[in-house]
Amino acid sequence: MSVPVKARVSTGLPTAPRGVAVLGSTGSIGRSTLAVLGRHREHFRLVALTAGRNLEEFDAQVAEWRPAYAGLAANLDGTRYPTGPDVLLEAATHPDVDVVVNAVVGAAGLDATVAALRAGKRVALANKETLVMAGDLVAQAACAGGGELVPVDSEHSAVLQCLSGRDAGLARLILTCSGGPFREWDTERVRNATVEEALRHPTWRMGSKITVDSATLANKALELIEAHHLFGLSYDALEVVVHPQSIIHAFVEFCDGSVIAQLGFPSMELPILYALTHPLRLPDAGVRRFDPVVAGPLTFEPVRTDVFRALGAGIAAGRAGGISPAVFNAANETAVAAFLGGLLPFGRISEIIERVLDDHTPAAAAALPAVREADRWARERAGEYVRRS
Ligand code: MG
Repeated sequence: MSVPVKARVSTGLPTAPRGVAVLGSTGSIGRSTLAVLGRHREHFRLVALTAGRNLEEFDAQVAEWRPAYAGLAANLDGTRYPTGPDVLLEAATHPDVDVVVNAVVGAAGLDATVAALRAGKRVALANKETLVMAGDLVAQAACAGGGELVPVDSEHSAVLQCLSGRDAGLARLILTCSGGPFREWDTERVRNATVEEALRHPTWRMGSKITVDSATLANKALELIEAHHLFGLSYDALEVVVHPQSIIHAFVEFCDGSVIAQLGFPSMELPILYALTHPLRLPDAGVRRFDPVVAGPLTFEPVRTDVFRALGAGIAAGRAGGISPAVFNAANETAVAAFLGGLLPFGRISEIIERVLDDHTPAAAAALPAVREADRWARERAGEYVRRS
């Protein structure tokens, strides 16, 4: 009997394990990444690990994985690890690292992404702020250094999976959006939502910053800008639809009108694994198998852009380009931190984003210093609005 052709096809992954750096290892994506790596030790070796200030969990991770490099990106005294922002660069450019999983939250992840790409690494990007702030510069770094960017964000992973092997004729992307916890709330109730209510996401368990972004829909604006840079489409070809079940992660439309979608129960472990193996796949018993009957009816509705104004503000910033997306991102980060700290009502987040964008002078983002300056200016201006609240 002949062996079926498929059984003879190897996964194509290199026989020697690929070296991985995980930046932000004690966050939600970092922990999920370690869970995925733990199931694939024959293919991946954890070389470098960084966290912020969660020392207890970091100690436990270092004891379990014994990475060649371990450091804390926060400025802390009295630890046995190297500390400070340069730790991210050390880990991202470590000579034994092939893939950098960047799961740092916010603008702090930018320099590590650029450094890893310049050093020729694959960056599995969960830090979407990196692309929002400086998409063109990140692309240039990849070109210059031979690195590649693979998205971890579930919607963008879905698009990549739909496109793999068939990227000719791409016409339009529709990213899905759960709608967040306030999808059906009226404007007044949304304006006064509490931190606890904003952190109660209906379908995804994530860190607090991205959970608030999902409640304001600023997250979807960040994702549209991310998609613009990853897949090279104009904003006219990028759309969002509310899909409360979070089963379909994205639709890809081709020029002949055909549409391909990627489905799965909400879990970040599959997009993380795929970012490590793309364009190949590995069997993974840890990912929950899909069942259409259990998934149940799938529904879709338009976004209420009049209530969730951060989405429109972010798209406008994306269309303006240059430093404007960095200003949008910084204003959002500042307002979200203030909301989480109890300094701001929920409804003020999008107002502050709009005001800071109104106040800024659009300019080109020719180099990283211009982006950093726009980021600094927008944080300061947003901080002034926070203090006046
Ligand atoms: Mg996403």
